Amino acid sequence: MTNVFLGLGGNMGDRREMMRSAVAGIRRVLDDVAVSSLYESAAWGVTEQPAFLNAVARGRTSLEPVELLDAMQAIEHDLGRVRERHWGPRVIDIDILLYGSEVINEPRLQVPHPYMSQRGFVLRPLADLAAGLTLPDGSLVGELLTTVDQNDLRRIEGPGWADPSHD
Ligand code: ADP
Ligand code: MG
Repeated sequence: MTNVFLGLGGNMGDRREMMRSAVAGIRRVLDDVAVSSLYESAAWGVTEQPAFLNAVARGRTSLEPVELLDAMQAIEHDLGRVRERHWGPRVIDIDILLYGSEVINEPRLQVPHPYMSQRGFVLRPLADLAAGLTLPDGSLVGELLTTVDQNDLRRIEGPGWADPSHD
């Protein structure tokens, strides 16, 4: 079993419900799932779009990296397809941030996720779960967090947001 971290984000439709559905899907694929607090971050790049919700999930799996990517893309597809007519196809994004301590450079999959060390909306929720974690390049999550901009980031809910019983 390998310890993996996933980055979740969404800015369309009922964002919180989409994030909760994504975690429910992740629970069906990974064992021992833990989820960060829920954050809201202003959209960057194209700024004329709604703010994103972001979170990080951790779990364990015996799936190979590309099998895990397939499983996460299936969740994205299912959620996207359900809401497609109303809100378009990009309701939820699930990225593989870390797969154990492996470094993967394949056309379909780069791990660690290429931009994770520069993004507050990834590092902040990741630090909720694993501030003491060391990335394959030797950097410490808690230390990376001090180097990124967190001005547009807001913690809006504690980790219970994704509990199956909590609503
Ligand atoms: P983005 O996440 O950049 O907003 P997409 O979710 O549409 O965009 O992903 C585009 C492609 O990124 C996917 O088809 C996938 O093959 C590739 N990819 C490369 N590395 C990763 C990773 N670590 N996690 C998820 N997707 C990845
Ligand atoms: Mg993605």
